[in-house]
Amino acid sequence: MKVKLRIVYPTGYVERPILAEAILTTGIKMNILEATLDARSGELIASLEAEEPEIERLVGFLRDRGVKVERIVGMLKVDKDRCIDCGACVSICPVQAIEISEDWSVRFDEDRCVGCGACVRACPMKAVTLV
Ligand code: SF4
Ligand code: SF4
Repeated sequence: MKVKLRIVYPTGYVERPILAEAILTTGIKMNILEATLDARSGELIASLEAEEPEIERLVGFLRDRGVKVERIVGMLKVDKDRCIDCGACVSICPVQAIEISEDWSVRFDEDRCVGCGACVRACPMKAVTLV
């Protein structure tokens, strides 16, 4: 199954190679969709694909080391009948999950979406909802 995780490093943890250890220990590869780091703390949004027991092992590994982990749940629904392809949602997406196709229609990549809701608020046609 595919999941997205929000991984939050508390103050003083960013210099520890916790994520690298988690990947080496569990063998689960992650795709980092978004990262906000400074010298003291940080937050990552990662997507990965694994069986449920492996995901639980990874989450447990991180939590045991003091890192906060949350699953991102929520599904993006786009009503193409309402959408006018205005593009107002494209640049506002923090993980580039929305793009303009060659035919100038707007396309959403649900695998990249981290459910922030920015496009929902930006859409003048109320064409986007998070379930
Ligand atoms: S909710 Fe919208 S703006 Fe936020 S990540 Fe998903 S597609 Fe991008
Ligand atoms: S902001 Fe709304 S109407 Fe405009 S392209 Fe995005 S989903 Fe479509």
